[in-house]
Formats: sequence, structure tokens, C-alpha cells
Amino acid sequence: MITRVQLPTVLREYTGGNTELDIEATDVDSALEQITTRYPILRRHLFTDRGELRGYVNVYLNDDDVRDLAHGGRTALRNNDVLLIVPSIAGGEDAAFSTEELQRYSRHFSLPDVGMEGQGRLRAARVLIVGAGGLGSPVALYLAAAGVGTIGIVDFDVIDVTNLQRQVLYVTSDVGRLKARVAAERLTQSNPHVRVVTHEVRLTRDNALDVIRDYDIIIDGTDNFPTRYLVNDACVLLGKPYVYGSILRFEGQVSVFTGRTGPCYRCLFREPPPPGLVPSCAEGGVLGVLPGIIGSLQALEAIKLIIRRGDSLIGRLVLFDALSFRFRELKLRRNPECPVCGDHPTVTGLIDYDEFCGIGERAMDNPQSQTVPEITAVELKERLDNGDAVVIIDVREQFEWDIANLSQYGAKLIPLDQVLDRKDEIDPNADIVLHCRSGARSAGALKQLRQHGFSRMWNLKGGIRAWASEIDPDMATY
Ligand code: ZN
Repeated sequence: MITRVQLPTVLREYTGGNTELDIEATDVDSALEQITTRYPILRRHLFTDRGELRGYVNVYLNDDDVRDLAHGGRTALRNNDVLLIVPSIAGGEDAAFSTEELQRYSRHFSLPDVGMEGQGRLRAARVLIVGAGGLGSPVALYLAAAGVGTIGIVDFDVIDVTNLQRQVLYVTSDVGRLKARVAAERLTQSNPHVRVVTHEVRLTRDNALDVIRDYDIIIDGTDNFPTRYLVNDACVLLGKPYVYGSILRFEGQVSVFTGRTGPCYRCLFREPPPPGLVPSCAEGGVLGVLPGIIGSLQALEAIKLIIRRGDSLIGRLVLFDALSFRFRELKLRRNPECPVCGDHPTVTGLIDYDEFCGIGERAMDNPQSQTVPEITAVELKERLDNGDAVVIIDVREQFEWDIANLSQYGAKLIPLDQVLDRKDEIDPNADIVLHCRSGARSAGALKQLRQHGFSRMWNLKGGIRAWASEIDPDMATY
């Protein structure tokens, strides 16, 4: 019977550097006898003078502690059995793994590149996940299962039924509860040895450095540009690695940014796209399994950084197209002109990221955006009730229209990318109210139409979501 014996790295010095030995033995005792005959110094470390296994040494046959087996050391070995020798590591209480941990992480202990040392690093690691949504779910689940000792979760959102299609941390009965809190419960259930710290706040320039400072690695689970630039800049300023991931529709991106030395997210994308150009997952849609793939890759990269093994994605950007099933890898270099990690940084503290991304109050000073007149759902309802002739143009996609619409008030569907081609269908002399889901796309449509002579236009503030919450609570929302 060939049995593979695996030894922890701490015993390597007694075995001529070997951590794996294939031996032929009939039972556990004879296997141990053979090893200690081959490496006599090892005998003193494993057995007492009376030949009993030392109390601080555990021997596992596959998953089971040999002491727990009915026949103990006389348990017969079968071909391909794995015998794992696990001594407690010197260095105090903190360093020793409990029996439960030794069993739980046995597949890591038997991996030479993880072993006791790597598992110890995982346990000592502190990882912050910004956003417990589609990406944050698989990241958090895998990091907790792997035994990352401290997991921080930043999220102030509540669970919505539309999240369940991809945010696998949550189940139906969690709808309406805070994501961070449910995530903490679920991760602790998955692995009680993990400490979960929740930050139920929106990250801002005022609190980001304080939150991020306490962690070794930051993982991007954000769904908006202001937060992503905020976290990137904070990571560069604090010198923390940032594991980047993003998803939309059928495509994803992953990379690792390395704090002060770069490259960073701004080296990749120096400026955010103008508001409304890149749809959010809510508007653009996302295939449910895609964040599972990209988030798992982020978890992988974080674990590699922690155990200090392998080649990280630093300096590489990976693009994944789920439909064509293609991974592409691009080189990513630090931009010496980068405003935050470059040679002469101009961003030396956190800035106003809403303004930077063109969606803040102060961005309204910009004449382009200042002149988007708004109408609230209540005001629109009043005008309709008064019998005013208002033309309602819905610039969402057909599937969104199918979920809920204002057709009973004569609304017409013209998706954003068709607005200019179909502008002749809109009466330029009418009072026009444009709307989308939450207001961003219809503001863009309004600006486009204004350049073609339309003037009496209003953007429905908060979109059809505002209508549903303020006027029609029975309306389906998404
Ligand atoms: Zn940079």
C-alpha cells in the first residue's frame, strides 16, 4: 500500500527538506515507524521515550484524527491514503490551531504552498470588502471559509429582492435587512473562527482613511465610480493593496493595484466616464453568475497576497467575456503622470468624489448640467390630475417598461439610444417630461434633445422609482 505522508514545514529540517514522503506500510503505526527510522531525529519530536505519540502532535489519516479512529494506530492503510502530521507550533497560544481548525483547514495544510505557515498568515490577515453585493458575496464567503481571521464589510444598504439573483450571501427571508449585518451572521455560521467587523456607513472622504487604515488588503465590491475612486485614492495614500473587480452585463475585469508603488485604478482609468454613459448593473443588467466568477478571482488574488505565493495580477488587467468565453490579459503600467500614484502627485488627500465624477451638487455649477429642470413625482401627478397636456417619454429599455410603466398617462417608450433617431415622434412644442428608472439616463436624453431645439422639458426626479414610492406603492419596482 502506498501512503503519502505530509509533514509541516516546521519539521522539514529533520527530514532533509522533504515535506512529502511516499511510503509502503500496512497500518498507521508502521508508517510512523518507517518515517522515524528513516529520519531518527524526527522520532524525538513525535514520540515520548516510552514510544507514545506526544500530546502536542496530531496525526490525521485523511480527515480523521488517528486517536479518534476505532483501531487507532493499528488502522489499516489503503492505497492513496494521506497521513498528515500536525504538531502545534511553538510561539505561544496564538500560534496553535485547535483540533477543530486543524480538521477544518486540512486541505490547506496538505497544500505545500499554504501549509501551517500560510494558514497562520490567513488567520492573522485583516481584509476589508467594500460593498457586500454581487462581487462582495463570493469574496466574503471564500475568505471566511479559507480562514481569513478578520473580515471587514462596508455596506449601508438593505437587501432587496432584486439582489438575490446574484448576491449569494443572502436568502429570500433576508429581504429588508441590512446587508452588512446579514453578511456577518452568515460568515460566522460558515466559519466561527473568523471575526467579522461591520461598517454600516457610506464611505466618504471624511471616514474612508479611518476605516481602511486598519486593514491589510482592500477588496473592491463597489458598484459606483465615486466610491471606487475614493477607495483607490485612499489605498494609494495609505499604501494598501487594492484588489479590483468590476462587472457589467456579460463582462468583467480584475486586477490588483499596489498602493503607493502603483499602478493604481487611476493609471488604468484616469477619469470617470460622464454620468449616464456607463449604465449601472440596475440599468445595464448583469448575468447572475458573472460576479461569482469575478469575485472568486478577487478572493483568489487576496489569498495569494496573504500567503505570499504565486504571481499576482499586479501590473496586469484581466478581461473576461462570458459570452465568448475569453479571458484576455493586458499589461498595466504605472503612469508617471498619474495624479495620485505618479511621480508628482496632485491628489495628496481625499477629494470630493461625487464632484470628480460629475454627479455632485457642485457639478451643478457646470452650465451643461445646471439647466436640467426637474419635476417631482408629486408635481407631475398634480399636473396630470389638472388635465395639463404633458407628454411623458420613458427612455428605459423594453424589459424595464414591461416591469412597470406610466402608459395609463400616455407615456411613450423611446429607449435612450434611440432618442435622437426618433425625435420626430415627439412634439417639440409640448411640455415634455422625460423619465427613466432613477433619473440619470433621462437627464442625458434631455440634454441631447435640447441640442435639437426641444425646450419645454423636465426630468422626473428619482425616475419611476420615485413615482412608485410617492404616488403608486402597488407599482412593481426593480
Ligand atoms: Zn496611479
